[in-house]
Amino acid sequence: MTVTQSGYIAIVGRPNVGKSTLLNSILGQKISITSPKPQTTRWQILGIKTKDHTQFVYIDTPGLHREEKRAMNRYMNRIARAMMVDTDVILFMIDATRWNNEDEWAVESLKETATPIILVINKIDLLEDKAAILPLIDKLKNKLNFAAIVPLSALKKTNVNELEKVITRFLPEGPLLFPEDQLTDKPIRFQLAEIIREKLIQATEEELPYATTVEIEQVEEKNKITDVSAVIWVERPGQKIIVIGKGGAKLKKIGTAARKEMEKLLQTKVFLRLWVKVKEHWTDDERALKGLGYE
Ligand code: GDP
Ligand code: MG
Repeated sequence: MTVTQSGYIAIVGRPNVGKSTLLNSILGQKISITSPKPQTTRWQILGIKTKDHTQFVYIDTPGLHREEKRAMNRYMNRIARAMMVDTDVILFMIDATRWNNEDEWAVESLKETATPIILVINKIDLLEDKAAILPLIDKLKNKLNFAAIVPLSALKKTNVNELEKVITRFLPEGPLLFPEDQLTDKPIRFQLAEIIREKLIQATEEELPYATTVEIEQVEEKNKITDVSAVIWVERPGQKIIVIGKGGAKLKKIGTAARKEMEKLLQTKVFLRLWVKVKEHWTDDERALKGLGYE
């Protein structure tokens, strides 16, 4: 009988270090949306990869946040902590070009855990002098007892294979946890909503993404055409004006970009209907969050 190996790998670190980008690189498909803005990843997302009798179940998490004022941040911190138990190995990711207080705080929050931690130094493509990585490693290796240290570029896919090899050492022998061809734990509706949210974040300014969420009202496939109706919820009438844009131009741009990506995912033509609606103070109200599916 062939021996199989499988386990959970949590990807943690402050926002913007490249956690979701790494997951997408490893899976060769966009599972988790990415952007230069913090708080892009709101959900805990599983990315599953099975090869050579080994199953890697990656957990992409919202970044660890010090700021807990708003209900949305409290929610995100809760998941980020909850997944730290029960994982077989933790990837603690940092940006090779920037170490800040938030990284320091992330290290603090990892000190208690007994799970092996691999330090992943990302964005090495941005280092002009590759040798600059050495003093950085020297500085970091005393901060925690790392099981391994792997420098890489998630975006350029440099050394990502090496990371996978290292991870394999930490996965226990045992049966596969998911069917071999499964890629994520999220249903198609979720993926469709996330595609819209990504295009929205990419098309709008700084403060807006925080105040928005996307709800898929209907998905229906007929004769190789999929009808999708979705609502972009915002907090204030002013934000609705921003999302719609002059003469509807911005909403149209968001819709077109989202539709193209949905067509790739679904392998059908897509007819996308997109509305923008106002629901006041929803990020601040736990009950409103639940109403929108943030359970
Ligand atoms: P997360 O918040 O940790 O999930 O970070 P994201 O995956 O959303 O990435 C944040 C930003 O960093 C995005 O603009 C990515 O394109 C960029 N990024 C991620 N990995 C790399 C990398 O290896 N090199 C470079 N140059 N940029 C990267
Ligand atoms: Mg992310």
